[in-house]
Amino acid sequence: MKVPKILILGAGYGGLMTAKGLQKHLRPGEAEVTLVNQNSYHYITTKLHEPAAGTSHHDHARLAISSVIHPHRVNFIQDQVTSIDTIAKKVTLADHKDPLEYDYLVIGLGSAPETFGIKGLLENAFFIRSIDSVRMIREHMEYMFSQYAEDKKDELITIVVGGAGFTGIEYVGELVDRMPELCREYDIPLEKVRIVNIEAAPSVLPGFDPDLVNYATDYLKSKGVEFHINTPIAECTTEGVILKGGEEIKASTVVWTGGVRGNKLVEDAGIETMRGRVKVDGQLRAPGHEEIFIIGDSSLVFPSENERPYPPTAQIATQQGQFLGKNLVTVLRGGKMETFVYHTKGTIASLGRKEAIGVLGKNSKVMGIKASFVKRITELRWLYLLGGISLVLRKGKF
Ligand code: FAD
Ligand code: NAD
Repeated sequence: MKVPKILILGAGYGGLMTAKGLQKHLRPGEAEVTLVNQNSYHYITTKLHEPAAGTSHHDHARLAISSVIHPHRVNFIQDQVTSIDTIAKKVTLADHKDPLEYDYLVIGLGSAPETFGIKGLLENAFFIRSIDSVRMIREHMEYMFSQYAEDKKDELITIVVGGAGFTGIEYVGELVDRMPELCREYDIPLEKVRIVNIEAAPSVLPGFDPDLVNYATDYLKSKGVEFHINTPIAECTTEGVILKGGEEIKASTVVWTGGVRGNKLVEDAGIETMRGRVKVDGQLRAPGHEEIFIIGDSSLVFPSENERPYPPTAQIATQQGQFLGKNLVTVLRGGKMETFVYHTKGTIASLGRKEAIGVLGKNSKVMGIKASFVKRITELRWLYLLGGISLVLRKGKF
């Protein structure tokens, strides 16, 4: 009898959890499981703002896939997916001549920056989205600071962060922590540095609890961060940014944290999308494709018909991966899949190493060092899910 082929694209939160689940629940020979990822490592996206600011080394935000995947159970291929053919049920990779065939496809390829067509962003801004991208941000920023010693132009030590959602605020928090050390290293007076966070909406962290938003902005302002609220960035140039209304802010480092959309490969595969994300059914399947499952940032899950979709987070991607890791086994054995139900544990945003804000469960507010501690626990929990206590002890930063 033909052994069914399960192909998982992307070793992010969703893809890796699916692979871990299948590795655990499938009997040997019950299915052929293949995981494809463009890097040999998994990057811990939820920590990428730290190496982007230089408050921690990028090795703390990644781990070898071989350290969590069993090679006899899951065949790992390091390559870049270039296209998905949903009719022929084949996936093409950049460096493999023959496409990969599948009976079941799990797409967990994450997101791409949403630039809303803003002129010059793709060319001139940096993005917090991978190990490669955050290494570039840190090195560029440090090079600009080093140039300031010779050429005292203020823009060299001005950093603009476009968008004050969770990524923007967490990054600004790290920058605040990094600046004293960076200024000492390059002999720059701390008060000369400008960190400017620009937000289109009337408040930072739009829609989040107002008390927690005030706590965050008061703390960050006390550390010198400038907020421009209700002022969308209209253009990004080689010199900095131009705001709606025409004001220009000169900055040699512009980091765009203005939102995300689904991975373009999903759209290109002809699957119906909204901003690149697919409204999946209760079993996480793409509409019209019984054998294609979409998880993580490329999926859209609605709590109910008339509500807004859940925001794309590692939390929901992890739960979707856990769900598929179990339910795909049920399908293979001829059983009926359960319905995916998301259980939110809350939201915590760090403001550097020792400060954070958050809501635990449905509405219990936390802030300060206590919130920061909870954030560390959630990071350790991810390591625990991937590799148990030994991985926590090896990779966890306490
Ligand atoms: P990802 O984790 O992004 O993984 C996608 C994988 O696919 C990657 O390994 C990538 O290399 C691979 N890939 C992409 N394209 C290709 C290709 N063409 N070929 C092969 N491989 C490919 N969420 C939270 O819940 N809590 C937080 O505290 C939190 N903090 C965050 C902090 C930051 C700075 C950022 C940017 C995001 C944060 N998020 C947080 C959001 C969270 O990181 C994402 O929602 C989550 O990573 C989505 O998981 P995923 O599995 O969909 O994709
Ligand atoms: P986001 O969409 O949550 O925030 C983007 C922000 O940019 C918004 O506030 C938006 O108003 C603003 N913006 C858009 N266009 C703009 C413009 N032209 N000028 C200025 N501002 C503009 O995106 P994100 O912060 O990258 O987060 C992506 C996802 O990841 C979200 O679902 C978020 O919840 C999740 N995330 C979670 C955490 C956490 O839980 N700690 C951390 C980071 C990201």
